[in-house]
Amino acid sequence: MDLRPHHLLCTQGYSGKGYSDKFVENMNRVTEKLRGSEPVMVHLTCSTDVLCADCPNMLGTDLCSTNEKVKRYDWKVMKYFQLEEKDYIYQELVERIREEMTPEMLADICDGCSWYPVSACREKILGKKKRRTPQQPD
Ligand code: SF4
Repeated sequence: MDLRPHHLLCTQGYSGKGYSDKFVENMNRVTEKLRGSEPVMVHLTCSTDVLCADCPNMLGTDLCSTNEKVKRYDWKVMKYFQLEEKDYIYQELVERIREEMTPEMLADICDGCSWYPVSACREKILGKKKRRTPQQPD
């Protein structure tokens, strides 16, 4: 299935809320498959994907109503994790992202996303990793 890079994060943090009933139904179907133990091949694409297909914000191929923002999320995920537009095993990628992601990186990637504060992204992707606080002098 086609998946845009920032949806590697959304599919982990998703906790049942979405843009419409149709979107949620599709998201439930896709995340159930991706969260299963069977390896799933995904094709990373910086364009509209399997989740956009049932989203009310999709205006056309490669066109989201917040295109500038979602393209920025995609670009940051590609850059941080040195990804390419090619096939990957979803579970392997997610494992690597969870290992390498820091709270600062996640906050930077997801800056401006309205789901970030209300979904389970931090809990699912970061686990117990905490944001670093600046060193205080003794
Ligand atoms: S169309 Fe836009 S808002 Fe909807 S799932 Fe795709 S990137 Fe997200």
